[in-house]
Amino acid sequence: MGNTFTARGTTAVPDALSLSNGGTDAFFDVLMPAACDLAATPWELRLAVLLVDSGHRHLGVWEGFDLAELPWTGGWPHEKAFLLRVIDLAATGHGRDRLGYEPPFAAGYLADYRAMAAGFTPVPAVGTGWDAPPDPRHVERCREHGLFHGSYGCPWDGRPAWRVPTPPLC
Ligand SMILES: [Zn+2]
Repeated sequence: MGNTFTARGTTAVPDALSLSNGGTDAFFDVLMPAACDLAATPWELRLAVLLVDSGHRHLGVWEGFDLAELPWTGGWPHEKAFLLRVIDLAATGHGRDRLGYEPPFAAGYLADYRAMAAGFTPVPAVGTGWDAPPDPRHVERCREHGLFHGSYGCPWDGRPAWRVPTPPLC
């Protein structure tokens, strides 16, 4: 099983990032610390929580998503800029010391995804609720890893074993 992350309408080629489950782990593993450490506004905090919730490998279910499915608001230029900052910070290796392994293919994933996001123009939605701060419990940080707890607790706690992610599908 794999997961495909898309950006409908992006000008980037390719316009999709297809990852194995191990690759999906790595993708979220590198994005989460950057998102948690950069997030400040309610929308940014909610995106960080979404990434943390999505990065829970022990839930056993991964899904790709399309960037158009994110609840962009009228402030989408700032929101898109935040997403790009998260990808850029992740690309620097931010948080890898806390992660405990070096995802070998993460740089390629991030480069492709950054191009997809940069070429994507969000369409604002109404009444998403993302203009209100998230549940304060969801943005409490794990003392060991610094990640938000999200809805399910720190995704790096209690992992059975570190494993090297498998290569991408394509
Ligand atoms: Zn933790």
